[in-house]
Amino acid sequence: SHAVAEYMRRTPKSKSFSEKAKEIMPGGVTANIKSFDPYPIIMEKGKGAYLYDIDGNEYIDYLLSYGALMLGHGHPKIVQAIQNQIEEDGTFLFGTPHRLEIEMGEKIRQLYPSMEMIRYTNSGTEATLLAIRMAHAYTGKRKIAKFEGHYHGGYDQVLLSVNPPVSAAGPADEPRSVAESKGMDPYYEDHTVVLPFNNLEATADILTRKKDDIAAIIMEPIQGGFIPAEQSFMDGLRKITQELDILLIFDEVKTGFRLGLGGAQSVYNIKPDLTTLGKVIGGGFPVGIVGGKKDILQASAPTSSSDVFDSSQSKKSGAKDVLFHSGTYNGHPTILAAGLATIKILEDDIDHVFSMTDQLKMGIQKLFANRGIAMQTVGLGSIFNVVITEKDQIRHYRDLQQADFALRKELDFHLLNDGIYTKPMNRYSMATVHGEKEVSRTLESYEKALLKLV
Ligand code: PLP
Repeated sequence: SHAVAEYMRRTPKSKSFSEKAKEIMPGGVTANIKSFDPYPIIMEKGKGAYLYDIDGNEYIDYLLSYGALMLGHGHPKIVQAIQNQIEEDGTFLFGTPHRLEIEMGEKIRQLYPSMEMIRYTNSGTEATLLAIRMAHAYTGKRKIAKFEGHYHGGYDQVLLSVNPPVSAAGPADEPRSVAESKGMDPYYEDHTVVLPFNNLEATADILTRKKDDIAAIIMEPIQGGFIPAEQSFMDGLRKITQELDILLIFDEVKTGFRLGLGGAQSVYNIKPDLTTLGKVIGGGFPVGIVGGKKDILQASAPTSSSDVFDSSQSKKSGAKDVLFHSGTYNGHPTILAAGLATIKILEDDIDHVFSMTDQLKMGIQKLFANRGIAMQTVGLGSIFNVVITEKDQIRHYRDLQQADFALRKELDFHLLNDGIYTKPMNRYSMATVHGEKEVSRTLESYEKALLKLV
């Protein structure tokens, strides 16, 4: 297309860098999601709301590392917090409990009252992995359930029906469990039950039939960070999971701090049994947190029999009475310092992020309406997506499949060429550093792009 040709003309260094990268890393990337055709832009520098590529192009960043950077790039207060931690503590890593673990824990409990106790991990993936193990240990049941289209990390137990081909996805009211990767153990297709999002009746029916096997439901309260659960769906789900003795896990890796400081659970006024956090709470560094009801978390407390050298004390049956959780870097002090500084700034500035998000969303809607193109900005809080569709409402994965991806992609390349960055087809995440200036610049680019498109 014309837009892609222009993209290639503007980014020759990214092209040759990508060719080199392909010799080192499969596909030239170290996470499949970072790849796109014809090749990804190679960024060199970030500052505030801006990214700069190796060809010298400037972009307003709306990818923000898949939502992780809610203060933008290189925020000076985070730099300061990291420097202070290292100077004051004299180390990057204690290998013992330390003050920041408690300080962050107390902050989390204050903002997320359902998280009575917590454990730290190194990523969102590790957080959901631990939450699921806790649910199995607590309930003694062997399966879990997840919703079609929801992402919780890249491992076998949850990497099912995230983005299934429509032809393989099964009936809308009882989706099939479809593996998303080669090399996955087919065991999990039987052990991870897939549910239809925002369809309470069908979900309740599946859960009722399978309740004896299902330890927990893990869900994104806002699918992909932008398709909200309906309030009545959420209320109904909380009620039925309690009735059926199924734990409810809110995966708030994306929604935590982004939908509000207290995450989706404060917006929906729902108390999940377990919650996972990540992304924003690391201030740009790798982190995860699992929290929830005290009696569920308490199963991870070490006992004298968990001393590794003292294997003689483990139960004769072979099964230990403790839930194993470990990690060299869990509760990393430098990262917790960055996270605490992030929360502090968001406490003052989160409303600004919401108002800039609304301003951008409304501006984009108006521009599409002026051109007579049916489109919706789908999302709540500080994340949204631009879905070009005739549908009145996007409620789940299957609605999304009917959107006009070709037009959206062409639009995204026009925007890239004019210095507006998100990975093509990705959602928009906003940050404290997006101001009036960035929003109006972005709307000007949209206006120009739409003129070229239709
Ligand atoms: N859960 C959700 C809802 C996510 O959006 C993500 C990442 O995009 C994860 C879990 C995995 O987190 P990480 O990439 O930190 O492992």
